[in-house]
Amino acid sequence: MEVTKQVYAVKIPFKLAVGSGKTLDRFVYAYLIYGRKICLVDSGVSSSYRVLSDYVKQTGRDARDINRLVLTHAHPDHMGGARTVQKETGCQIAAHSMDKPWIEDVDLQYRERPILNLYSLVEGSVKVDQILKDGDKLELGEGLTLRIIHTPGHSKGSISLVLEPTGLLFSADAIPMRGAVPIYDDVLSSIDSIRKLMQVKGLTTLLASWDEPRHGEQVYSLMEQGLLHFQQVHDLVRRIRAGSPDADLTAFASQVLHAMNLPQTALIPIVIRSLEAHLRVADREDLLGEA
Ligand SMILES: [Zn+2]
Repeated sequence: MEVTKQVYAVKIPFKLAVGSGKTLDRFVYAYLIYGRKICLVDSGVSSSYRVLSDYVKQTGRDARDINRLVLTHAHPDHMGGARTVQKETGCQIAAHSMDKPWIEDVDLQYRERPILNLYSLVEGSVKVDQILKDGDKLELGEGLTLRIIHTPGHSKGSISLVLEPTGLLFSADAIPMRGAVPIYDDVLSSIDSIRKLMQVKGLTTLLASWDEPRHGEQVYSLMEQGLLHFQQVHDLVRRIRAGSPDADLTAFASQVLHAMNLPQTALIPIVIRSLEAHLRVADREDLLGEA
């Protein structure tokens, strides 16, 4: 999908295994930025290179022009296809230092954040050639600069990217949608990260990994809604914990999902992990107010 003449969104579907042979249909967007060369933002899951290179061809360019792959974070739907992208294009891979260990060692990621079918979603570990930090600017040529904003919470090393001077924001998985399955490591960091993005003036388009492009006023209102989503989950977590303080973690998480009208198939370790993040700060009633 053309976002602008220089930015394209490529939707990549995949299946997330949730146990007992069941899978959830998910998708992720990877983005192409056409500067002097091509900068790829995230590589999708395993085998996505073919989809990406076919798409690039349709736009009249050659995927071998990809000289940089920026990984917004280490999760399998973002780094899964990186190995082939690098092999076919020789591109440099850039990511934040805090997600580097999981990108460079998929086994470590699996041990620390188990996803049943991680090894079918990821082609393998890849080396990070360039470490990115908050405030870094990558010159892409043709007048385009990509500014790095460290937005931890979803993962420690999650980054968002602002394409200057266009006002496009690549927010990856930093901003949750209302009612979505909770997937993050640290809810307070996630809230701080969204507030940090709200401070960025002049954003015109929001390019999230799990949503179609959103323009204009929606950009900031979706950030507001993301904040409200965290508080909504938190309220449920506190209410359900108070109602059955002795329930084990799985039973507790199951009740929260039910209260959110989410399917029980979402009762997987990465979701339980997100709800635990709320339990760690359950003494706070209002996450959005002053601590
Ligand atoms: Zn993610």
